[in-house]
Amino acid sequence: MGPGVATAAEPRNIDQLKNEIRAYVKSGDYGREMAAIAGRAEAWLAERGGKQASGERLAVVFDLDETLLSNWAFIEEHDIGGSDALWQKWMAQGEAAVVEPVREVYRTARRLGIEVYFITGRRERLREGTEKNLRVIGCGEYGALIMKPNDWKGTAAAYKTGERARIERTGRRIVANLGDQDSDLAGGHAERTFKFPDPFYFTP
Ligand SMILES: [Mg+2]
Repeated sequence: MGPGVATAAEPRNIDQLKNEIRAYVKSGDYGREMAAIAGRAEAWLAERGGKQASGERLAVVFDLDETLLSNWAFIEEHDIGGSDALWQKWMAQGEAAVVEPVREVYRTARRLGIEVYFITGRRERLREGTEKNLRVIGCGEYGALIMKPNDWKGTAAAYKTGERARIERTGRRIVANLGDQDSDLAGGHAERTFKFPDPFYFTP
């Protein structure tokens, strides 16, 4: 083919894409964008907490991976890949780093008396390592850590939406839902949603 012939069907080059992702993290852009979203969530909690009606029980929902927890150390070590078995082993260790600006949202919620719920796509079998990880990063106080049943076969979106609806049926009002995947946030049951960037993986 000569110059100017379109090759529109060719996907993007995977090595170049990986380089872009590394640069996005290492330049600090990723951290800055995470912090910007977290700042908006924090401002909303402060505003909404101030307008709390008497008798209203407010709650906030956080996703864990690539929201409150960063797996970048693992992702980088495995060339932005890593088999499912390696991921499971890594998550069981409970050594993911904290995303500091999102921990600030957690702290703001606690200070305002807004109850914290973690809804994660991690399965129940990872509970021990996940609870340890949350304690290590100073986020060990919460209403519940809701984990996917070991035998769950549906989508993440259906599971997470169902769990938010369940929280609401206990008389709580979810004022904010924070996550890095569209499937964390789809399906309603939150006054506001906050979407963090995630170029690393996709969860339908
Ligand atoms: Mg996530």
